[in-house]
Amino acid sequence: MSDSSPPPLDAAFATGQVRNPISRVLAPIRSRLAVAAVLAATGAMLTLVPLAGIAHIAGTALTDGPAPSAIGWAVFVSVVSLFAGMALITAGELVAHLADNRLTHQLRVAVGQRLMQVPLGWFSERASSDVKRAMQDDIGTLHSLTAHFYTTLGRAVGALLISVLYLFAMDWRLAIVALLPFPGFFLFLRRAMKASAKHMDGLVAGMTRIDDAVVEFVNGMPLVKAFGSQGNAQDRYRDAVDAFAQAFTGFTRPLVASMAKANAMIAPVTVLGGVLLFGTLFVALGWVEPVQVLPFALVTPGLCAPLQLLHYITHDLNNAVGAAQRVLALLDTPVLPAAACPQRPTGCEIRVERLSHAYTPHNTVLSDVSFTLRPGTTTAIVGPSGAGKSTLARLLLRFFDPDSGRITLGGVDLRHMATSELYQHIGFVLQEVRLIHASVADNIALGRPAATRAQVEAAARMANIHERILLLQRGYDSVVGEDALLSGGEQQRLSIARAVLLDPPVLVLDEATAAADAESEAAIQDALSRFAQGRTLLVIAHRLDTVMHADQILLLDEGKVREQGRHAELLARQGLYARLWALGRYQHTEKKALPTC
Ligand code: ATP
Repeated sequence: MSDSSPPPLDAAFATGQVRNPISRVLAPIRSRLAVAAVLAATGAMLTLVPLAGIAHIAGTALTDGPAPSAIGWAVFVSVVSLFAGMALITAGELVAHLADNRLTHQLRVAVGQRLMQVPLGWFSERASSDVKRAMQDDIGTLHSLTAHFYTTLGRAVGALLISVLYLFAMDWRLAIVALLPFPGFFLFLRRAMKASAKHMDGLVAGMTRIDDAVVEFVNGMPLVKAFGSQGNAQDRYRDAVDAFAQAFTGFTRPLVASMAKANAMIAPVTVLGGVLLFGTLFVALGWVEPVQVLPFALVTPGLCAPLQLLHYITHDLNNAVGAAQRVLALLDTPVLPAAACPQRPTGCEIRVERLSHAYTPHNTVLSDVSFTLRPGTTTAIVGPSGAGKSTLARLLLRFFDPDSGRITLGGVDLRHMATSELYQHIGFVLQEVRLIHASVADNIALGRPAATRAQVEAAARMANIHERILLLQRGYDSVVGEDALLSGGEQQRLSIARAVLLDPPVLVLDEATAAADAESEAAIQDALSRFAQGRTLLVIAHRLDTVMHADQILLLDEGKVREQGRHAELLARQGLYARLWALGRYQHTEKKALPTC
């Protein structure tokens, strides 16, 4: 995170008065898309000129006999119009694709900027998959909207408009009867949309159920195999698939019937039949000459294609609405307020003052918690599962802000401090290790990219991971997830090396050995003991045997500090701590000392 406020998010995506997600997402390229659509519409109009040319040549030939100059002129205009039209359509596509490229870039930058400002606590597995989906799938879906939708719309509308104008210019009475099937098309289309909309919720719910069942099926595979409940997971997946198939049938049945009628209404043969029928009638009535029916016979059947095109691209629009909503949701993620005038801490004493926090209203996780971490001392937070220990650690690292109360570092409220300042003072090793897809060296130097290789190696030595790194195929240049495949405990030691390199005066450890096997756990304990020398230490402990030597132990229960003191004092008090100790609830057969300061 940067010190100063990151540059403001592109104002073009700001909510303002715009409520429609598509309008909001497309705001930065709206004018470019309009130009692309107009180019495509004009191009489509010009490409239809040859049809009028054919009708004109036929009309001239039938009424005035062969007239080479008139025919030559019509051919020339038709050919020039055709090529000019194709050039304009191509130009429209080019403008739309350039606009799409610009939008994709802006969206990715804007999402990146936003994510730099959101609280660290926001990042979770769910959040990562949301980001992945928005950045990859949804921005991809928006591509079909920006790069293709508006030019296709322009082409379809342009072709329809010029055709209708041309037909009315030829003969308004014949134009009206020739276009009669088209309102019928919209009538059936509307009916189809209404019928399918009724089943849309069921279809979406069915799709979500399949997604959940697939995730459960895949993620839970080791468990279901181990516990022999494989059949259940398979059954749930099969049920979800069957339910979706049923919902899909309900969705498509009314849609298919109405769409078949709608398409039949405007099928070229239907339209041509109507034109010829009414044309013959009009000729018999003496209202038009036979040659005047020709433009109608040539142009009207062609109206079917742009109308169907319009119908198909509405699907793109529907998909894009969902994608735009998800991308905007990411852009609207609440940010952690940055200090307007960041203050610098004096010293490293941490005070937690009357801290209360609830993740959801009326579900208080921490309530009126106060304590002090004096420089150079070790404090252990213990308590039953769900007592709020990790929440306290996260608040201390400003993963999010407390509902009430405050935490000060060196006399400065964390909210009034630049985040980089905070992380220079407080290092952390949490149960959940996050490594990035980069080299081992880059992972260690994440918080201090300017560190030399020697400094990175020294940190790795201190974290007991140097020897293991040397065994990797490319040593420190091995890439995590590719040729650096590390166990949970090794990843943990890598994250300790990362903290060591930053050399913070305060260290927060939360379940640092959770992911480790016995051998790795010993290595981690050893690394932490050395690293903790002389630092202020806050340990979230899940076993009492690891906290016996702490300067201060806080027993947290249901979000409140129930007991506070040294191990011996708490035992003498005969309270909850003593009971937990006696019950052996936190004890471990192997006694390991807490990293000592
Ligand atoms: P453990 O020892 O089992 O890790 P803990 O003492 O560290 O537990 P916390 O992880 O702080 O407890 O959780 C305290 C309470 O807050 C629990 O009831 C938990 O369900 C809830 N909680 C934790 N994280 C969240 C979250 N992101 N959103 C909502 N509730 C949460």
